Amino acid sequence: MAEDAIRIMCPNLLCRKVLAVPPTARGKTVRCKACSTTIRIPEKASEASPKPDTKPEEAA
Ligand SMILES: [Zn+2]
Repeated sequence: MAEDAIRIMCPNLLCRKVLAVPPTARGKTVRCKACSTTIRIPEKASEASPKPDTKPEEAA
């Protein structure tokens, strides 16, 4: 299946530019074109789009 580009926001509060990086950049670092801040791309994209995989509470 084809994966879309990963969108990650620049951690630089003065920049906050949304960068689109290819899925192959997972686990690597990219540099923000706007402010040259080094950003680490998480290996999983679940941080940006969490899956509805959490099971409901079974305590009841
Ligand atoms: Zn930036």
